[in-house]
Amino acid sequence: MKYVLALDQGTTSSRAIVFDQAGQAVTTAQQEFRQIFPQPGWVEHDANEIWASQRAVAQQALQQLGARAGAGELAIGITNQRETTVLWDRATGQPLAHAIVWQDRRTAARCDSLRRQGKAALIQKKTGLVIDAYFSATKLQWLLDNVPGARARAARSELAFGTIDSWLIWNLTGGKVHATDASNASRTMLFNVHTLQWDDELLRLFDIPRSVLPRVVPSSGVLGQTDAALFGAAIPIAGVAGDQQAATFGQACFAPGMAKNTYGTGCFMLMNTGTAAVPSRNKLLTTVGWQGPAGPGRTAYCLEGGVFMAGATIQWLRDGLQMIQSAPEVEALAGLVPDTGDVYLVPAFAGLGAPDWDGHARGTLLGMTRGTTRAHIARAALEAIALQVADVFDAMARDSGIALKELRVDGGACSNNLLMQMQADFLGVPVVRPRVTETTALGAACLAGLATGLWRDAAEISARWQVDRRFEPQLAAPLRRAKLARWRKAVERSKAWADN
Ligand code: ADP
Repeated sequence: MKYVLALDQGTTSSRAIVFDQAGQAVTTAQQEFRQIFPQPGWVEHDANEIWASQRAVAQQALQQLGARAGAGELAIGITNQRETTVLWDRATGQPLAHAIVWQDRRTAARCDSLRRQGKAALIQKKTGLVIDAYFSATKLQWLLDNVPGARARAARSELAFGTIDSWLIWNLTGGKVHATDASNASRTMLFNVHTLQWDDELLRLFDIPRSVLPRVVPSSGVLGQTDAALFGAAIPIAGVAGDQQAATFGQACFAPGMAKNTYGTGCFMLMNTGTAAVPSRNKLLTTVGWQGPAGPGRTAYCLEGGVFMAGATIQWLRDGLQMIQSAPEVEALAGLVPDTGDVYLVPAFAGLGAPDWDGHARGTLLGMTRGTTRAHIARAALEAIALQVADVFDAMARDSGIALKELRVDGGACSNNLLMQMQADFLGVPVVRPRVTETTALGAACLAGLATGLWRDAAEISARWQVDRRFEPQLAAPLRRAKLARWRKAVERSKAWADN
């Protein structure tokens, strides 16, 4: 093996990156696809467009690679937007309907009713998840109940369900393999993260026939070969993981207590908790990180906390307030003032995620005086990102009993040095930015590269992970505590504002 082709199927675009043995991206291609909004709160993708765009970028990335990879010198790793649900016909390979995207809220009422029936404890215990429309179970149930004829056809074993990884694997293998990995399965709300099996009690609760489910395979291991017609020769598919878990792997967070945070539209923090599935008492999610090849320590678990509005808060400064013309400009604007002048922005524009989970909270700007300027508000917006992350970080430490020693960072907004310094200050531990910030694709490549001998072991991957810059905390502990307490006061004032 000389190269790995990482397929990174995201919410708005499909990307393909070829990595060499040094872990460097050598070719890359990207294509956006349609976002479909049929009704308020509904978000769909055309699964055929997802496949067509993913196939096209894979072919482009391989074309650029040309003769550098000979026969048998290439493997594929897959990473993907999670939870998004596809139902297709096993005979024709055609989807029965558009895919229901993770952001889609159409099954919120179904989730309310599950909560009223007192199912939260059972679901959390088995799946590690908080009941929410975000996860696949209610989306799949919706498709089976609402697509004409779907239930009867599923009963005849004619249909296949999958998250995006399964859909890509099915198409890559010409319909030969119907599989998913445990990191993706653990976002469906149908998968028992302790037994690592689909759970019969949950399947009954959501009325899902077993016949539609994919087989669960290791995240690192050859699960099949691509149809030779696609890329000129068959290529082994050797790694699969959901995007956030792949990023955690790409950040080489292999030891318990290591954590990464991705600063994109939202923020996702994952901490490796080792071979223990740690239940959360602070409304975080327990999830499978990845499943390596057989052996002890095969399954790594993570705690996960998500913040809805991170980089999106900066988009709001740009588009909603028109304070800046591009996201990176926020750094200079916020740098015009030494502090926010006690102004706080709580960006609960879409409610609050972990650890508050208040769907009725709304955006709140507090503490303004006649002296407040755009610069103070921009600075408060940046602080808000770092403060929300600090809350998740604190919940993780409390849930796991592990004091985190540093935080590894990636995602679009991690290029903002001021934000990273604020983050280190509010956490009280160093924030470390790696040289390669394409950690999601890199993680998928690492899973596949380990399975095919391109890399020997995790230690080799850890050794190659290199620091770009380390941000040391500069705020004294009493000041940090005061800052966080003041922020919590602001968060409380944002809560329970919207009535419905
Ligand atoms: P996603 O994968 O969620 O689309 P990206 O990782 O591409 O997100 O990051 C883009 C997000 O980061 C946008 O929300 C943007 O506002 C924000 N962003 C990009 N550059 C900066 C910056 N220098 N400072 C602050 N935010 C930024």
